[in-house]
Amino acid sequence: MIEIKNLNKTYHLKSGDVEAAKNVSLTIEDGEIYGIIGYSGAGKSTLVRCINLLEVPDSGEINVNGVQLTRMESTPKGEVLRKVSDKELNRARKGIGMIFQHFNLLDRSTVFDNIAYPLKYSGKSKTQIRERVHELLELVDLKDKENVYPSQLSGGQKQRVAIARALANNPGVLLSDEATSALDPTTTKAILALLKEINQKYGITIVIITHEMAVVQEIGTHVAIIDHGELAESGTVEEGF
Ligand code: ADP
Repeated sequence: MIEIKNLNKTYHLKSGDVEAAKNVSLTIEDGEIYGIIGYSGAGKSTLVRCINLLEVPDSGEINVNGVQLTRMESTPKGEVLRKVSDKELNRARKGIGMIFQHFNLLDRSTVFDNIAYPLKYSGKSKTQIRERVHELLELVDLKDKENVYPSQLSGGQKQRVAIARALANNPGVLLSDEATSALDPTTTKAILALLKEINQKYGITIVIITHEMAVVQEIGTHVAIIDHGELAESGTVEEGF
């Protein structure tokens, strides 16, 4: 489960302050496919990047898979944000996979090495890593691409590698930040079908940031609308549409 309570985040720029998250509270239950939708600049990425603390909020509580990543503590100086230790955060992050619009693959590493990368420091043997990478290659339908480099792949194939890498440590949560925005409509459909398959097969909770209603309609169970940093609405996809 992902629980976000009273989350606030302001960026301080020379040109002025940007309130990217304003008192956002949101609960995402296990196994849901939760669409976060809104215009560009609405605060979707900020909200989702707070789920794995890529972005640290100014205030608010974040609870993921039973780990309290941030909490508020009363002190003589007022309420202050407390964060988990780096060690606990690293452990918690193993349970939270993430994929991006531009894939973020290691260009100088093969498909195999890209997927094996998060397993490097997991204490697994070489044989175990090889077995896991092969399982993942099968899942994302890229068995014949293990030894090629990202530059030799199509956009859809690159995103499949990124999905395999994100799932390497069996996370309970997968965050997707505009993962299909750089893909053509047919490839988008195929990637969304793969995400749905992963959700159904493994019960992984998926949070999908998108500016496209169609993406949420295609695979979402729930949707939240973010507008100017605020949660404008949330509910099931059936209610939302
Ligand atoms: P979205 O994902 O909906 O496009 P973002 O969360 O990326 O929205 O951005 C929300 C607002 O915060 C925007 O005005 C953006 O310019 C600003 N912003 C996002 N990240 C940063 C950052 N690291 N530094 C300064 N401003 C940022």
